Amino acid sequence: MDFARNILIVQAHPDDAEAWCGGTLRLLKEKRFNISIVTMTAGGMGGMSGSEEETIAMRKKEAANAASLVDADYYCLDQRDGYVFDSEEARMKMVDVIRKVKAGVIITHLPNDYHADHRATAVICDAAAMISSLPNVPSKEEPLPVTPLLYHSAPMSLSDPLGFPLAPPHFFVDISGVIDGKLEMLGCHESQKQLMKHMHKIDDFFGEMKKFSAELGEMVGVEYAECFWQHLGGGYQKDPLIQETLKEKIIIKED
Ligand SMILES: [Zn+2]
Repeated sequence: MDFARNILIVQAHPDDAEAWCGGTLRLLKEKRFNISIVTMTAGGMGGMSGSEEETIAMRKKEAANAASLVDADYYCLDQRDGYVFDSEEARMKMVDVIRKVKAGVIITHLPNDYHADHRATAVICDAAAMISSLPNVPSKEEPLPVTPLLYHSAPMSLSDPLGFPLAPPHFFVDISGVIDGKLEMLGCHESQKQLMKHMHKIDDFFGEMKKFSAELGEMVGVEYAECFWQHLGGGYQKDPLIQETLKEKIIIKED
């Protein structure tokens, strides 16, 4: 089937897209994909030196700057950080943006991610993508010609909220050649250094993200990697579009 080479990254907070997908976005940009990034929230609780409103303004700027490094449009659905709920309103906003960017491919969080906002985002995104081609859905945007392909990005570790190992990623992407580009995107989120120190006792946030990419790389014998799952459950097409587009960088781990 023919899927538009428009990819939409749907994440809960500014910096999530860069943390889990930044290298892959760099590679997809080289393959002439049009990239859009949407966050459910502007991360208003993620500030240590300003009010919620001030933090929202600052983080929207940081997210837009990071997106601009891969020529991506940035959208925020203006839900409240820490309070992302599945609701009709949230799904409708999501349908609107999926249709507006004419998404052929979507990457969102895993349904069993460690963070409650991430889990809610995954549900909202899945529900909205599923109805994005249906003409009776009351959206101001035109229905898509076909339901987009759906993928899931890795959480901060490969374990579920209870600490059990996740199902093995469907594929890894070798991002060794673009690790600097990924870190440049993450580096736009300057406000998060201070927050991570306070919240997770992480002294060097960007360094930790690099380390996580290195750990994933080590699992498949390359320097740095990201990993993904394709949504292979019912309701979605299973064309391996990302895997084929990036085939020279794709590694499937055999156990
Ligand atoms: Zn997040």
